[in-house]
Amino acid sequence: MSTESRQTIEERIRQVGSELQGHMKEEVPSLFEKKKWIGRIMERVMKDEEFKVRLFRFVDVLPALKSDDLVVRVLKEYFSVSDLDAPLLIKRGIERLSRGGVSSFVAARVARTGVETLARQFIAGRDPESSGKAMKSLRKEGADVSIDLLGEIVVSDREAGDYRERYIELLNYLGERAGRARSGEKSQPPGISLKISSFYSQLDPVDWDGSITNTLRGLRPVLDRAGEAGIPITFDMEHYYYKDLTIELFKKVLQEYPDFPSAGIALQAYLRDTRNDLEGLIEWAERTGTRILVRLVKGAYRDYEVAVNRQKGWPVPTFMEKGETDRNFEELTRLLFENTRYIYPAFATHNIRSISHAIATADMLNVPGDEFEFQMLYGMAEPVRRALLKMGRRVTVYTAVGEFIPGMAYLIRRLLENSSDESFLRKSFFENRPFDELMQSPPAGGKVMEKADGGFTNEPPADFSIASNREKMRLALQTVKTQTGSRFPVAVAGRELFTGKEIKSGNPSDPDEIIGIVSSGGREEADAAVAEARKAFHGWKKVGPAGRADHLFRAAAEMRKQRFELAALEIYETGKTWKDADGDITEAIDYLEYYGREMLRLGRKSLLGDYPGEENEYSYSPRGVGVVISPWNFPLAIPTGMVSASVVAGNCVIFKPSGLSPVTGWKLFEVFKKSGLPEGVLQFLPGPGGEVGEHLVAHPDVDFIAFTGSREVGLRIIRLAGETGQGQRNVKKVVAEMGGKNAVIVDETADLDEAVRGVLESALVYQGQKCSACSRVIVVGDTYDEFTLRLKEAAESIRIGPPEDPATFMGPVIDVAAKRKVEEYIDLGRQKGAPVLIREVKEKGLYVGPALFEGLSPDSRPAQEEIFGPVVVLFRVRDLDEALQIANGTEYALTGGLFSRSPGNIAKVRSDFMVGNLYINRKITGSMVGRQPFGGFGMSGVGSKAGGHDYLLHFMNPRSISENTMRRGFTPELG
Ligand code: NAD
Repeated sequence: MSTESRQTIEERIRQVGSELQGHMKEEVPSLFEKKKWIGRIMERVMKDEEFKVRLFRFVDVLPALKSDDLVVRVLKEYFSVSDLDAPLLIKRGIERLSRGGVSSFVAARVARTGVETLARQFIAGRDPESSGKAMKSLRKEGADVSIDLLGEIVVSDREAGDYRERYIELLNYLGERAGRARSGEKSQPPGISLKISSFYSQLDPVDWDGSITNTLRGLRPVLDRAGEAGIPITFDMEHYYYKDLTIELFKKVLQEYPDFPSAGIALQAYLRDTRNDLEGLIEWAERTGTRILVRLVKGAYRDYEVAVNRQKGWPVPTFMEKGETDRNFEELTRLLFENTRYIYPAFATHNIRSISHAIATADMLNVPGDEFEFQMLYGMAEPVRRALLKMGRRVTVYTAVGEFIPGMAYLIRRLLENSSDESFLRKSFFENRPFDELMQSPPAGGKVMEKADGGFTNEPPADFSIASNREKMRLALQTVKTQTGSRFPVAVAGRELFTGKEIKSGNPSDPDEIIGIVSSGGREEADAAVAEARKAFHGWKKVGPAGRADHLFRAAAEMRKQRFELAALEIYETGKTWKDADGDITEAIDYLEYYGREMLRLGRKSLLGDYPGEENEYSYSPRGVGVVISPWNFPLAIPTGMVSASVVAGNCVIFKPSGLSPVTGWKLFEVFKKSGLPEGVLQFLPGPGGEVGEHLVAHPDVDFIAFTGSREVGLRIIRLAGETGQGQRNVKKVVAEMGGKNAVIVDETADLDEAVRGVLESALVYQGQKCSACSRVIVVGDTYDEFTLRLKEAAESIRIGPPEDPATFMGPVIDVAAKRKVEEYIDLGRQKGAPVLIREVKEKGLYVGPALFEGLSPDSRPAQEEIFGPVVVLFRVRDLDEALQIANGTEYALTGGLFSRSPGNIAKVRSDFMVGNLYINRKITGSMVGRQPFGGFGMSGVGSKAGGHDYLLHFMNPRSISENTMRRGFTPELG
């Protein structure tokens, strides 16, 4: 745009802005009216960050609190008078409560009414009928309405079905009224906004086709009804992860319903991708001859997108500065106006600058006023809405309707939006910033993300919402399939040999298929390997920390190259799903990168004390020859961790993989070979645990054993390693990570959407075959019934099948013995307790469906023993003390979890739940290297913390060297 036309448009924007302001006069949105209670609360929220956090958290938990006493307890926990400068109203209330001056009944009522008033501000009513008055008055003002039915998270098919039914009821209601009113009213019938994630509980772009097919199936009755009644629909845009899927689904809907009265989709200006997406939609609309509505919003999930994408190590998809979003909004506005043949633009903003810009641009491009509209949220920016209506502009009000609990997420989003430092409404109506400042053109450019400083960061998981990643995985699955049945040698004493004894590694989802045939070693090979390792040790320990770490970094680079093929192999060999297999590869890469850096840190010269004439050096030297014995359930990550830690510390190791994942084990050996590791530093010796494994453990020339596996085997290894053989010169060190019987506590303040999903994932992903998996759930009080029902329905809704199918949530268990063992426990549960769910699976392959039991004693075998399958025992308890007693009441102490929004309960569980890894308000599996160092105590292990600062110390002997540097009184440091 030329300088001249820019000036002209800027002038026009200001003109429109003044006109809008003129119409608003001194009007203030009700949310900022300081005379009202709600205005005073908002004022406090905006001035006091800590109060804001506490208030939002309290608002979030309140609807879940069933009893008045509980409301009062939690209220006190959030707003303790001593450490908070709370508003007088709350402070006095709490003081009186503490003195016993008010009954719980009264206090709880006051709290509930307060939060309900807040909710009422943004939510028009509990159902269409009760929202009728609000809608009527909006329409009287001349505004149209688009209804959003609150209810955002569905965990089961039943919940998705209920949500669909509610939409159909809404459509029936609207259809009836639309029919009656059509002749008289000037505005069009209310539209509806849909969130696609609520129509299919298993929605996930990893299963692209299945997600589209099943969501469409859920949507069809709604679309049919909306079509009949002539009700417009708009697809809301949710998290970035679902964006491409939402756009694709929208196109599919319009293909199937070409004559739909009016269909629209929301696009978010805070996303860097949106220009591309919009261009794609315009091109598609042109090609198909469809005219669609595009609701351009700024985007309401910014904090979520930043946090979640940062946590995953994915690029943050949003602009970092609000100004950039505003600028993008203006650029997209122009693009929309340039394409009004295909697009009916709806500008969803309360920002007077953005609105004025849109009107000015429409004028410049000669777009008539009835060819676009503005959208505003119910309960916000009323003066702006009324001013626009007075100016004869079209306005639609996005109106939330629904119950309190699902409404909370919506309410918090709105409160955050309004109170944010960057909120336009806050700046204009609360801070009264000058008109000129508010009308400034948003700045170009913006903050560039800081570059990583070269320190450790986790390898990001594959983002399967990206089509090319799904394609890579599909190709890898095809490639690996063509290689099944290959033979692999043992690699000892500088030779790769086929011993004549073989381990056949099968595919658990198709037991007839052999994934690979791996040679198996015996005592002879074990002795040769130990001798070779001893020989190599002398050279290897002299390589130095940096040289050794380099091998790990090269191995990490090699794994990155092969990541999809390695994941595909795990899918076939160990029955992991796409995401889970990918997670195992990224964890393996993390160990390599992390331990490499850890060795550089520990290898630096460290001097202790600061005294003249004395130099004290503290250093580490490798232990010698080690044996790594690994399980099958993290077939790459766990052995990579144990091998890389041993090797980088300067030791030579013999790696014995599990007999159930030996092909993946061989791949690890190959990766290290490619990294150029000298001969003898790592040898590969598969074989029967009881034979080769024990022989190596007992060998007098072995200095340490790194083991991960069952408690039974771990304890046996510890015992064997404690015996001193002839000629042995070292007391053997054993690092043993063993099993768990992990519990999750759900208290009566928990967010059940999160608790159900967290428990479902922790217990059933990888069929419960993770040492960290949840196998006991302890629910406090009345929450039990609702939680258990939702968990059961969620477990009924997940897809069980071959893991190469991306729709699969649960695959097969590892082998026939495992299947038998799990089924025995299920029988036991059936005999001694009451099944909540026993899901049968009819597929060919080693499948066991989820089994949930209640009514079992905490001391019963299913509640005490590690089952290593999808079996969960549920307990109902009176209070948190009883919950902790049961949770701590096993010999294991590996992982544990708590779902709670009570600060008091969280503090108690942090201090009293005795496990190695405690997780609060999240799943209890999926620890990340460097972030949640992993490992337990009790009967869960004697090693500390894979992926943490202490881990490499297991593999080295610490040494202290003190030298007197003074010669006949001459002390260099003092010279
Ligand atoms: P497992 O104990 O049966 O086997 C582990 C390894 O030990 C295998 O390589 C096996 O061949 C070998 N082995 C078996 N008998 C042996 C013997 N007598 N001497 C020497 N080696 C022997 O365990 P698994 O079935 O492979 O793995 C599942 C178990 O591992 C579960 O109990 C799980 O909780 C545990 N696990 C623990 C962690 C952790 O970090 N704490 C991680 C993963 C798995």
